[in-house]
Amino acid sequence: MSDNKKMAPVTPVISDESEVHAEDTVKTTTSDGQTTIVIHRHYCKGCELCVEVCPKDVLHMVTATDRWEGAIVEILNMDNCNACMLCEVQCPDFAIEVYNIKKEAKKKEKKTVG
Ligand code: SF4
Ligand code: SF4
Repeated sequence: MSDNKKMAPVTPVISDESEVHAEDTVKTTTSDGQTTIVIHRHYCKGCELCVEVCPKDVLHMVTATDRWEGAIVEILNMDNCNACMLCEVQCPDFAIEVYNIKKEAKKKEKKTVG
């Protein structure tokens, strides 16, 4: 058998289900609907940087035996999120994205004015 066997492409799935799989993309929103965090679990290597920088203890690591570090990130306290974006900025693998309605509106405003 050839060692050059091609890996099957990962198809991200947007999911709001509590039962998720490592290849999923998971979207979680604050109860006021203002902030959403998207975690691309298939990109997360479990380095824990996002957990360390989060000032509000929103994130934590869960065991994932198929991951490089044996863990991936998960949301623990979504309503604590202040949309500071530190987790998104620090993640070396673009595995986490933060969207805040007010910040997105400001960005659009700047584009229109500029
Ligand atoms: S946006 Fe800020 S408060 Fe929210 S999870 Fe990321 S680091 Fe934590
Ligand atoms: S910083 Fe990125 S790669 Fe590291 S644990 Fe967080 S989401 Fe995963």
